[in-house]
Amino acid sequence: MTTNQTLTSEETERHIGVVDEYSAHNYHPLPIVINRGEGAWVWDVDGKKYLDCLAAYSAVNQGHLHPRIADAARKQLETLTLTSRAFHNDQMGPFVKELCELTGYQKALPMNTGAEAVETAIKAVRRWGYRIKGIPSDQAEIIVCSNNFHGRTTTIVSFSSDPGSSADFGPATPGFVVVPYGDAAALEAAITPNTAGFLVEPIQGEGGVIIPTDGYLAAASEICKKNNVLLVADEIQTGLGRTGKMFCFEWDNIRPDVLIVGKALAGGFYPVSAMLSDNEVMGVFAPGDHGSTFGGNPLGAAIAREALKVIVDEGLPQRANELGSWFVSEVQAMNADCVAEVRGRGLMIGIEISTEAGVARPYCEALMERGILAKETHEQVIRIAPPLVISKEDLQWVLGELREVLAMSF
Ligand SMILES: *Cc1c(COP(=O)(O)O)cnc(C)c1O
Repeated sequence: MTTNQTLTSEETERHIGVVDEYSAHNYHPLPIVINRGEGAWVWDVDGKKYLDCLAAYSAVNQGHLHPRIADAARKQLETLTLTSRAFHNDQMGPFVKELCELTGYQKALPMNTGAEAVETAIKAVRRWGYRIKGIPSDQAEIIVCSNNFHGRTTTIVSFSSDPGSSADFGPATPGFVVVPYGDAAALEAAITPNTAGFLVEPIQGEGGVIIPTDGYLAAASEICKKNNVLLVADEIQTGLGRTGKMFCFEWDNIRPDVLIVGKALAGGFYPVSAMLSDNEVMGVFAPGDHGSTFGGNPLGAAIAREALKVIVDEGLPQRANELGSWFVSEVQAMNADCVAEVRGRGLMIGIEISTEAGVARPYCEALMERGILAKETHEQVIRIAPPLVISKEDLQWVLGELREVLAMSF
């Protein structure tokens, strides 16, 4: 086994120590301190090079420091960064127009973080429920799935089934009903006259790369339509090319009523998110009803415009599809004893370690020692989700290292 001497250089330890001392211990990061990135690669403070197989939870689908996005950011930094929505700026209009044209929705409301866009969708869906569907005041219900991840605000963690996310953060916001993920019959059974929406991730990323059975979203879409319930797709992680289509819902040939995007929307340069829908839903917001100081700011908008163009121009969804199916079949063919299942769609890949073999963390640590950054999700799963610009040669190298690491026992 390789020693982990390189992982604990004085400089690395010093950086980690300062964060430990001066910040909350709300993460359990791998012991590496990164100070540079380019494409699919990052470098640590000791100059050691790593292949990034997490891509900031899919926020850097375009690769680190994409030169076109960097240029757009630089250019905008020299002209205007923030006006607030009290005034117009010349970047927001083109941004929402281009985002609507790409997604096929009539309206886009830009926010900053993913959680804010989810909150925006929850508010829009509830208000649509009261004002359009006619649900009695304060009775609206939104159906969500078990094992979901939609962000960290108090309302969103109210309907999380992960105890760590929700314990002692109560009282929980009412109005959410949890059904098992992937079970269309359970969704149908949970609908009442007060149901306004169904909020779902097309693939559960933080939940452990859980892919529902084929046709689940199509069935859910059918059920929502029949019952006048809004289908809300959280594509913050699955969207913008990650799963081999521009949006994961395209695999099921459906069109959600509300679409939530974030993460890769600004290519890792800036927090930009958005809620999208047609006029009927977005029309529930009037001046003063909702907002954000930074949402739609010219710097974020300029960055996001270029980040979207890069995804289209470089054919990143198709790249993810081709490289992903090949990679999954290669890992499956390894038939490693410790692996319970290999699953994936596009370059959103989960390698589930069997409970007999232990947990995923030591495998991730061994990969890190070999220069591959992958983070475990939900104890058992090694997630492989590199920037979509990654080369086939780099992935080939990952396969070789993975083969050796999966043969190790911990
Ligand atoms: C990351 C993520 C969020 C939250 O986004 P933040 O920018 O961290 O607030 C919401 N939903 C999904 C599916 C995510 O992956």
